[in-house]
Amino acid sequence: MTMDRRTFVGGMVAAGGLLALGPDRLFAGVASGAPAGTLLDWGDAGTGAYTMVDRSTGGNTLVLVSDGHALVVDTKSPLHGAAIRGDTEVLGGSASVTLLNTHHHGDHTGGNAAFADVPSYAHKNAKPRIEAQLERFKLGGASADGSGTPLENLAPMVRQASSLWTAGMFTPDHLIGDEGTELTIGKRTVEISHFGAGHTDNDLVVRIPSLNLVHTGDLVFSGLHSFYDPTGGYSAGGWVEALERTLSLCDAQTVVVPGHGVVGDRSIVKAGIEYHTKLIDAVQKEIDKGTSRENAQEMSWAFMEGLEFESIRARAIGAVYDELSGG
Ligand SMILES: [Zn+2]
Repeated sequence: MTMDRRTFVGGMVAAGGLLALGPDRLFAGVASGAPAGTLLDWGDAGTGAYTMVDRSTGGNTLVLVSDGHALVVDTKSPLHGAAIRGDTEVLGGSASVTLLNTHHHGDHTGGNAAFADVPSYAHKNAKPRIEAQLERFKLGGASADGSGTPLENLAPMVRQASSLWTAGMFTPDHLIGDEGTELTIGKRTVEISHFGAGHTDNDLVVRIPSLNLVHTGDLVFSGLHSFYDPTGGYSAGGWVEALERTLSLCDAQTVVVPGHGVVGDRSIVKAGIEYHTKLIDAVQKEIDKGTSRENAQEMSWAFMEGLEFESIRARAIGAVYDELSGG
């Protein structure tokens, strides 16, 4: 075991050590093809690309493995972050790991402490926002509960480690500007783009051209209402624009990994464009009619029918109302 792996959940060594889990379970040999021996249920999105899209566990994670290197995109919760790090060892063998966050939200960065020892990237606007979430991360870690799941044995170690977590263990050490950047992961080029404020003011879109695969972060909620965060620097109009630019990265064969919901093709990007465009139009009409914010929030329209995450529907309407009315 290398020092990197031993320190991997940030303080986990002090908290009792991962070895208690058994090296067979966490550090099994490189899985060839199907990802056997992992704690989480990974889907195979393409050669060396794995997705974990169970939506009860937070934002969708992508692990790209190539030639001794691995890129992890988003880390879900404190408990899942630890599992993702362990699983990355299984999927990538002794690969050197790099972390990227698509944006600052806690259901995408909550497990970052498990990657405190590796290079990490996020948009520059994400850093202060991630730092501000430390107490939430520590609470999440302190209450980690994997009862009845394969993460059961990991939870006590995460709970103990969480008392040692600092903001620096969650924040990116490489900040990406508005111009985006390009990473090389083994033999794969990974293009990282920022298309302005949309879901937040720090959204990144990840594209792996050689796999024709795009991870949209939370610019796309597939089959779900979109989450509007009044404190995250969102822009409904910017969201549409960012999705149009994301769509321009896709052709008919592109595999699209959304921030939440199941993996699809470019049709899920188009559905997002339609959702926000129609939401802006519908809310503007209500504002023009003099409908109050509260009454507008009670409304629903045909384009919203059949979507899950119903509990955030009114929130989306309210946020767009505020933006359009300058509130
Ligand atoms: Zn988000």
